[in-house]
Amino acid sequence: MKRRVITFLLTLVLCLSGCSQQQGQPEHHRDVFAMDTYMVLKVYSENGERLLDEAEQELRMLEGRFSVTRPDSEITAINRSAGKPVKVSEDTAALLTEVLYYAALTDGALDPTVYPLVREWGFTTGSYHVPEQGKLHSLLQKVDYHRLSVQEQTVVLTDGSMIDVGAVAKGYAGEKLAGLLRQKGVTSALLNLGGNVQAIGSKPDGSAWTVGIQDPENPEETSCTLRIRDRAVVTSGNYERFFEDENGCRYWHIIDPADGCPADNGLCSVTVVGESGVACDALSTALFVMGTDRAKEFCRQHPEIEAVLIDTEHRLYYTKGLKDDILLSEHYSGSVI
Ligand code: ADP
Ligand code: MG
Repeated sequence: MKRRVITFLLTLVLCLSGCSQQQGQPEHHRDVFAMDTYMVLKVYSENGERLLDEAEQELRMLEGRFSVTRPDSEITAINRSAGKPVKVSEDTAALLTEVLYYAALTDGALDPTVYPLVREWGFTTGSYHVPEQGKLHSLLQKVDYHRLSVQEQTVVLTDGSMIDVGAVAKGYAGEKLAGLLRQKGVTSALLNLGGNVQAIGSKPDGSAWTVGIQDPENPEETSCTLRIRDRAVVTSGNYERFFEDENGCRYWHIIDPADGCPADNGLCSVTVVGESGVACDALSTALFVMGTDRAKEFCRQHPEIEAVLIDTEHRLYYTKGLKDDILLSEHYSGSVI
């Protein structure tokens, strides 16, 4: 939890340095704790307070639908459906449709049915422990995104499986809030949903937003900064939500559906930059699971994806399209994927 406060403060500092240059429209900002995350919403608009009220309300509504721990959420209804069809909201249907698209695109590196493993390790309950091999093996039998289907607003999940949308919910929320604010005429806003940043337009003075990517070894510092306009920047890392066993061995919250254990394939941080928050969120988790070699290969095969990868050997790789907008910190050197 301490780490998340540091992330929050770090991003806040980076954002504050941007605010001093505001011109014209007044700045309004709101701190929100939702989806188990500290968020800061910043909007430049005459109607800022009203817009922030609406944005916060929307966030809480989405949280109520997507939460895996709340008994009255739509995800819980799906998890308790015992194989029967469940009617869901447009948001949940849209989110699950996107999840299934990215699950297929990444060959199951992203898989919402991995939830029973996430829970077994303790990440949604707080009772952290290393499960026994037999337990992992039996839980893995029901992990397969093909067991989930969405037809318009009807969802069917094969009996015995459970899902969780933690890997994409914040990306979806950021993208949806940005859409709402744009519709209301906002041309400058920065929505920071923990490791998910969604920018509307540019800073009020017309210059690009600057978003810092944390150094996984030293999360109080940045490994690089990215200049963006109208983009989402989403990071998945292993340095935020984790626990350690009695030998100091670290276990984190991104699970490899191949073996049910925290994904440990050479990467400690993956950032994806793009127009769609939900795509960036899905891909940042999936590339993290793939690991260094597969993630690099995936980026080469999908040149529309812009990403920054940091491996466990302190090496940083980025896609060609980011070349002019990335600034590496002095203790990092990087190479193009
Ligand atoms: P964060 O929530 O910290 O921003 P991510 O977007 O990478 O990080 O999502 C991690 C969350 O997604 C986990 O807390 C868990 O709920 C879920 N999850 C873990 N592994 C997977 C996976 N392989 N596929 C889909 N969801 C996953
Ligand atoms: Mg994600």
